[in-house]
Amino acid sequence: MAQVVVLGGGYAGLASLISLAKKMPALQLHLIDANPEHCKITNLHKTFARQVADFKLPYTQLAERFGFTFHQHRLQIDNHSLNRWQQQKKIPLGDSELDFDWLIISTGAAALVPPRGRQVYGLEHLMAGRGPDLLEEWRTRAESQRLDLSFVGGGATGLQILFELKALLRQQKIDAGLRLIDMNSRTLPMMPEGAHRYVVRKLRRENIIYLPQTEYLEQTDTSIKLRECGSDREYQLDSAATLLFAGVKRAPISLPTNPFGQIELEGNLLPDIFSAGDCSDYAGNGLNQLTAQAAVRKGKLVAHNIVNLYAGRRLRPYRYQEKGYLMSLGPIDAVGWVGLHCNLARGFPANILKEAMESQYDLFLDGVDTYLGFP
Ligand SMILES: Cc1cc2nc3c(=O)[nH]c(=O)nc-3n(C[C@H](O)[C@H](O)[C@H](O)COP(=O)(O)OP(=O)(O)OC[C@H]3O[C@@H](n4cnc5c(N)ncnc54)[C@H](O)[C@@H]3O)c2cc1C
Repeated sequence: MAQVVVLGGGYAGLASLISLAKKMPALQLHLIDANPEHCKITNLHKTFARQVADFKLPYTQLAERFGFTFHQHRLQIDNHSLNRWQQQKKIPLGDSELDFDWLIISTGAAALVPPRGRQVYGLEHLMAGRGPDLLEEWRTRAESQRLDLSFVGGGATGLQILFELKALLRQQKIDAGLRLIDMNSRTLPMMPEGAHRYVVRKLRRENIIYLPQTEYLEQTDTSIKLRECGSDREYQLDSAATLLFAGVKRAPISLPTNPFGQIELEGNLLPDIFSAGDCSDYAGNGLNQLTAQAAVRKGKLVAHNIVNLYAGRRLRPYRYQEKGYLMSLGPIDAVGWVGLHCNLARGFPANILKEAMESQYDLFLDGVDTYLGFP
């Protein structure tokens, strides 16, 4: 029986596995992931108030539900090893090897600027469940001295975390000064201008200082060092901690991928190695952004094409177009667009829609696929 190995069990990898399990129950399916649990990353901004365990699912549980074999292992990936794996049709797994008919690489993305040094925190700290401890530390500090917290990054991730934390600090009566630092001249560059204006109004209302066109240099024990982009002037401000969300990049390497999902290295097609999710850079005009929405669709397309290859049918190109994008701005607010770019959604109704999208993914992991009409 044919064997498919998926490397990376995030949104894309699980979308492939679940789709393959449903379409071809006789396939032998394997998942390799560095971690023991799947993390629903799109909820990480909620983990100052809630335990990160609420957003993690053991792979062993998913393996039982969908009938695949799970191996916890971190694999090194580079162009040389990809070529070798294609030739040999096997990948190393600790002391042994795993044969494959098709391999799917879906290893996600990594921080563009990793959080380094004391008092600097990023996604890796939230994923490790540090949120509630940090909140407690800041509460204690605010009781005896002034507390200033710096956020770096005016993209969707940074803003979701900033407004979630702001609401929590207010609710728990923790007195803190927050500031948002961003190299760009506006927030949310991929979203309509109206979304940026909505965010700026909210920043003002919430007394959050906004420093656009400003570069983060470093955080020391008590202050943050910044540089103004236009003038190159460097200066320092009081800061107890920096929360660094300056964007992500495809990881561990960017995988050039043809419109059918197969990896193509320097013009050399690897016909049996597919990629999906944030790590993949698809040719063609389908949605190629580093979002969960694209990751799930690429994962499903790759599964569809593997089934087609098995059945001797033609491959289908990736043409998925974005249907909208919503991001939360605290527990009862959100902003984004739905259907058309000019169709701005905001406030509580947008928040409900955003939560509905999270529920859609939860249902998918329960085995109910409501991502209808694709591929
Ligand atoms: C706070 C936050 C909020 C977000 N909100 C949204 C949102 O509202 N909407 C949206 O569309 N997107 C959102 N995103 C983006 C979204 O989370 C990503 O686009 C999505 O997770 C990408 O899925 P993926 O499967 O490519 O990678 P991931 O979900 O990151 O999964 C990659 C997997 O690969 C494993 N792995 C990596 N390297 C190796 C290796 N070498 N060996 C073995 N295993 C490995 C990892 O352990 C991980 O399980 C958000 C991101 C963040 C951080």
